[in-house]
Amino acid sequence: MSEPTPIAQEAEQWFAGHWDPTRPLGEWWRDLADSGFAFPQWPEGFGGRSLGRRDAKAVQQARRAAGAYGPPNGVATFLVAPTLLTMGSPEQQQRYLPGIVDGTTPWCQLFSEPSAGSDMASLGTRAVRDGDEWRVDGQKVWNSGAHYADFGILIARTDPELPKHRGVTYFLIDMRQPGVDVRPLREMTGDAAFNEVFFTDARVHDDDRVGAQGDGWRVAMATLSFERDPSNAGLGDTAAFYEADLSVAVGEHARAEAAAADGFSIAMAGRAGEVFQGAMECGDSSGAVMRDRLARLAAERAVMSWSSHRGTASMKAGRQPGPEVATLKIGGAETGRQTRDIGLEALGAAGMLWGDDVPDGGLFHRYAMFTPASSIAGGSDEVLRNSIGERVLGLPREPDEAERRETPWNELRRS
Ligand SMILES: Cc1cc2nc3c(=O)[nH]c(=O)nc-3n(C[C@H](O)[C@H](O)[C@H](O)COP(=O)(O)OP(=O)(O)OC[C@H]3O[C@@H](n4cnc5c(N)ncnc54)[C@H](O)[C@@H]3O)c2cc1C
Repeated sequence: MSEPTPIAQEAEQWFAGHWDPTRPLGEWWRDLADSGFAFPQWPEGFGGRSLGRRDAKAVQQARRAAGAYGPPNGVATFLVAPTLLTMGSPEQQQRYLPGIVDGTTPWCQLFSEPSAGSDMASLGTRAVRDGDEWRVDGQKVWNSGAHYADFGILIARTDPELPKHRGVTYFLIDMRQPGVDVRPLREMTGDAAFNEVFFTDARVHDDDRVGAQGDGWRVAMATLSFERDPSNAGLGDTAAFYEADLSVAVGEHARAEAAAADGFSIAMAGRAGEVFQGAMECGDSSGAVMRDRLARLAAERAVMSWSSHRGTASMKAGRQPGPEVATLKIGGAETGRQTRDIGLEALGAAGMLWGDDVPDGGLFHRYAMFTPASSIAGGSDEVLRNSIGERVLGLPREPDEAERRETPWNELRRS
């Protein structure tokens, strides 16, 4: 066995000296961020130490070996932070990143609209310049965590006379203002994790514009590339960023999180393996056909994991992932569906139940109900296949779309 590296030794000592499940969650997250072991790949001062992937993994292993709870996880850490680190101004980084790495500021993503999901560039929410501010009017939808977010990343149309991709600008908007109305939506999992958001004369200061006016599509594409990247350094193994009570003891919080089984949290926190294992133990996986399917699933997962590491290794520090990362997202959605189908089959008739009397406490059922979401959120499988065809393989665009890309937005036919 090879000797632990100096950074692995330092992390081991740090976690041995600092991890204490009786400490308040907020205090633990602040300490973790200050140590640079919260997000080791990010720069110093922003929860990290600019470590490479291998060293960052060693830090994570040291944390897990100590049984220590992980850093905050959510839209703020895996979408907002990497976008600000690559595209935000130094002032925006200083203003917003500290509250992200210590878990005190929840964020949401305000991209999709009722008539602009896959065709996001058609969006109609307007931002009009008014002195040093922008006035925002319109509607977004499917916004995860908007009901407790303090801020949102918003794309809005600032120039309707330009073609749809060119007249869009990217903002950081305060969600706690009178012009923002958040209405929760309930999903088939039973949870209400996402919302509709209405803007009526909401305000954003021009200092909170990311990138130039009209350059918002490029910034939004960076955010989406982070969303589609399963090796994103801001994706953690906790599910706790949402509605976390920072005063509660961190150990107590971790126990409550494990029991809560929120469908969305499970998917986000990479707990699928553990939940699947639970279903297999409750069910019957002894048949030859089942064993064959399990072997195939294991092989596909191994290929996915290998490809994901290769993807990260080939990525230069500080750069956003390319369009090819979509293959990993499609692969993840596919193995998710297989996991769901095998688990439900193993559970047999019990797989059809719902409620408190389900064998594994209903954990796997909620995972199963959430599974279709991974083929939709962050770009549907079909749309990602189009993107791979056009942007990776260089195939021609659909003829209509080529023309629509050059038509001013206010002349486009919209539903
Ligand atoms: C769990 C979850 C969380 C989400 N969280 C957020 C969030 O926080 N913030 C946010 O802004 N959005 C969020 N979304 C929204 C998500 O980004 C959209 O649902 C997604 O982009 C698809 O858009 P749509 O729902 O409008 O479907 P549509 O665009 O109406 O698509 C409907 C169907 O048509 C297919 N389709 C559409 N266009 C094409 C095409 N050109 N070629 C082939 N097929 C096509 C699609 O693949 C899909 O099957 C979330 C979604 C889910 C499921």
